[in-house]
Amino acid sequence: MSDLFSKFDALIEERQALLDTGVRDPYSIVMEKVLSPTRALINGKETILVGTYNYMGMTFDPDVIQAGKDALDQFGAGTTGSRLLNGTYQGHRECEDALKEFYGTDYAMVFSTGYQANLGLVSTIAGKGDYIILDADSHASIYDGCALGNAEVVRFRHNSVEDLDKRLGRLPPEAGKLVVLEGVYSMLGDVAPLPEMVAVAKKHGCMIMCDEAHGMGFFGKHGRGVFEEMGCEGDIDFIVGTFSKSVGTVGGFVVSNHPKFEVLRLVTRPYVFTASLPPSVVATAATSIRKLMHAGNKRAHLWENSKRLHGGLRELGYKLGTETPQSAIIAIILTDQAQAVALWQSLLEGGVYVNLARPPATPAGMFLLRCSLCAEHSAEEVETILGLFATSGRAVGCIGPAR
Ligand code: PMP
Repeated sequence: MSDLFSKFDALIEERQALLDTGVRDPYSIVMEKVLSPTRALINGKETILVGTYNYMGMTFDPDVIQAGKDALDQFGAGTTGSRLLNGTYQGHRECEDALKEFYGTDYAMVFSTGYQANLGLVSTIAGKGDYIILDADSHASIYDGCALGNAEVVRFRHNSVEDLDKRLGRLPPEAGKLVVLEGVYSMLGDVAPLPEMVAVAKKHGCMIMCDEAHGMGFFGKHGRGVFEEMGCEGDIDFIVGTFSKSVGTVGGFVVSNHPKFEVLRLVTRPYVFTASLPPSVVATAATSIRKLMHAGNKRAHLWENSKRLHGGLRELGYKLGTETPQSAIIAIILTDQAQAVALWQSLLEGGVYVNLARPPATPAGMFLLRCSLCAEHSAEEVETILGLFATSGRAVGCIGPAR
């Protein structure tokens, strides 16, 4: 009998070799206690969190927490059913109403995760004979949606308007086409040139979806996302998002103005064949979304933090994912795994947690230390983070000595 696990042997060996060097396992961190949106106990040490997606710090907002407690008391711990059958409570509707208000759209559909929202929309809206045209650096959930569905899949070079145009030009003009974009690409923290992308997609008669997982809360006057900031409202057919980042809980959604949108509730398998979110979760999400509509001050502070960290890391000599600060994600590009893990561990021992990302999650086989900032990080905390990046980076040899 062949062991079906043998396909993972190379990965098991590579991980073991790394752990044998004496480093901590970057993928088995436990938050023993969470003290605030920006602080947790890890290994008994109070640690500044610079590797969460808690951009707006909503996880500990008192109104959000109260809404969750009330819903837990009034509606119980879970729905035990699909949205389509017994799993739509008043709270799910209220959450969809909050999204419609937040985005100014006619329709909103809440999924159990953002992963499922992408999986569901991408696999369902484009069917046999249709085309999905996606950026090569698209999130795994978008790729998985392509794999689940029956459409032809065409990739274009990351953020290349020219390549998108070229590839669309080769497709049958009469075929159904969905162009898939993201406002912020989460690995390097770069934003898409949405107005140019949208113009090309429209020229070729495509529908457009944009994943604003990392743009919601932070970009645009109302915090809708990069598409709002760049003036593309009204041009995009579907906005996909998540509650697991700025909203501060868990869940996913699609919003749209398409008059036939509601039919998707009947035909989208990752919506139909899974249980709906617990009432406490949709209550926290709805409260958080409504508060994010009026979070201009938090947005401004998050920009200040992002700019300072980006500038400071550049000054120290780190190679970053973007030349200029483009989002709240600031990625440090490292040459090899050993160096990335050594720096990651040194930072953790000094009291700063960042995300370590490696292939296949990263583009072009890169090893990245990804910092993501929070509106609740104080200016002093950002200086502490930079100070540690200076000492740890020098100790590990990723950057040169102080000038
Ligand atoms: N899209 C993007 C761009 C993401 O980064 C993520 C999560 N990292 C998702 C979708 C999925 O979101 P969720 O955590 O809600 O499943």
